[in-house]
Amino acid sequence: MATELETLRLTAESCTDCRLAETRTNVVFGVGTPDADVMIIGEAPGKNEDLQGEPFVGAAGKLLDRLMDEVGISREQVYIANVLKCRPPGNRDPRPDEIDACKGYLRRQLELIEPSVVVTLGNFATKLLLKTETGITRMRGQRYRWWRGIIVVPTFHPAAALRGRPDVEASMREDFVLVKATIDESPPPDTP
Ligand code: URA
Repeated sequence: MATELETLRLTAESCTDCRLAETRTNVVFGVGTPDADVMIIGEAPGKNEDLQGEPFVGAAGKLLDRLMDEVGISREQVYIANVLKCRPPGNRDPRPDEIDACKGYLRRQLELIEPSVVVTLGNFATKLLLKTETGITRMRGQRYRWWRGIIVVPTFHPAAALRGRPDVEASMREDFVLVKATIDESPPPDTP
């Protein structure tokens, strides 16, 4: 569904549905394979992402790349996006009205990409998708059957691992092993 995804990107690029439109440099729509097996969902663009228009371009992205490499998930199997497509000033937390204004884009990305597995990074993405108030520390390490049969695997946000917590990185690695096992179990999309 590459074409519709590109149309959606163009719509997002001129979006003014919330106040973040006034302070953003670029809309950070998403990057990756349009028919990816795995969709990784972060929180919101940071400074570098805002400047470059691409999600996870900094140290957090390098950590994700390394974890995927270690467990054998290739870049071609993945699409990466965020809950918010625009940077909150000073990297503050997303606000509920901003999430509400933006969530239609993520929903449509999920409908078009149709991943078999979604990895939610941290509390914002996990709480939004799974409609839970339970924190990431208790949610991670398990798989959840979700909308349209998609399996959700919540894990920590890589920023938490980068704050010098080796236990967080080890937990993320375990979660990515679970992601890899889940993709390997899934039948190809056109199997009856
Ligand atoms: N953190 C996020 O949640 N998303 C990005 O794109 C970068 C950092």
